[in-house]
Amino acid sequence: MTMKAVRFTVPGAPPVVEEVAIPEPGPGQVLVRIGGAGVCHSDLHVLDHGAMHFQGPFTLGHENAGWVARLGAGVTGLKEGDPVAVFGFWGCGHCHACLQSMEAYCENWESLPNNGGGIGTDGGMAEYMLVPSPRLLIPLGSLAPREAAPLTDAALTPYHAIKRGLHLLTPDATAVVIGVGGLGHMAVQLLRVLCGARIVAVDVDDRKLEHARQLGADLVVNSRNAPEAIETITGFTGRRKAALVLDFVGIQPTLDLAVHLVGRNSQLTVVGVGGGTIPLTQWTLPFGCSVCTPLWGSRAELMEVIALAQSGRIHVDASYFSIEQGPQVLQDLREGKVVGRGVLVPDLV
Ligand SMILES: [Zn+2]
Ligand SMILES: [Zn+2]
Repeated sequence: MTMKAVRFTVPGAPPVVEEVAIPEPGPGQVLVRIGGAGVCHSDLHVLDHGAMHFQGPFTLGHENAGWVARLGAGVTGLKEGDPVAVFGFWGCGHCHACLQSMEAYCENWESLPNNGGGIGTDGGMAEYMLVPSPRLLIPLGSLAPREAAPLTDAALTPYHAIKRGLHLLTPDATAVVIGVGGLGHMAVQLLRVLCGARIVAVDVDDRKLEHARQLGADLVVNSRNAPEAIETITGFTGRRKAALVLDFVGIQPTLDLAVHLVGRNSQLTVVGVGGGTIPLTQWTLPFGCSVCTPLWGSRAELMEVIALAQSGRIHVDASYFSIEQGPQVLQDLREGKVVGRGVLVPDLV
């Protein structure tokens, strides 16, 4: 039996849709029938640069949810048809970080056979996906898998990043979100439900800014003209500037902007892997400002994010596409054309 899958081959080559074998779950493993696979900027990073030291080819897709399809020998506690989200970073499962459910910070990540589906081994842009352990599956309850898939990264990553700066987000503080695409549009909603701080959304795309305004941003600013954007935002924040700046892009212009917007005794959080740099000296950042480079989130936090979505307090603005459309959606994402999140759905009709 075969299935269609969106595959990474070698760094720099475009993604291809191929027929691959439907995997069999071995002992301890679970086969998941995919209900949705989110299309993420990190997929472009894998396509362009490879996935760390892992060789292709493999199926892309690290934002996955679906239904339990088959259980490998010895797996208990799940049954066929259970709707589940797939936790994306697969750590060793037994180090200090993994035991705390923070597998993205696994101490043994360099010696693992992969870092998750779509990151060194087959991911979810296909009809089925093999998950190595039931510990990586989080029950979805009433949430539809295709609506939930982006929660595993596009919501979990900003959730984790915001929580690390949450103590700074008092009701008189300001949070700045740079880049309001897939992750940023979730960050705006998460800030709304997690704190009382005022929210400034920054992007170079007016459609995404309008989207952010609808989702609860107090001020939206186009940063194409950076000096003007800095003036507008610091006019809004006052001399205190932002208590938390979240950069979901991470390229040089956004990092330069972030440094101008963050206040003293605050936090600059870089999530986007855009390749920009911040020179770290006593004088390049405001005094007392910490810099944070969080990676993804924990399994416990994924449960919290799913709970927020189950109760309707956050939602993914998703557009749905077939597996065959995967390469085109990736190209659209590269060109900045995707508002919200693109999600591949294997049986899309
Ligand atoms: Zn991602
Ligand atoms: Zn570990």
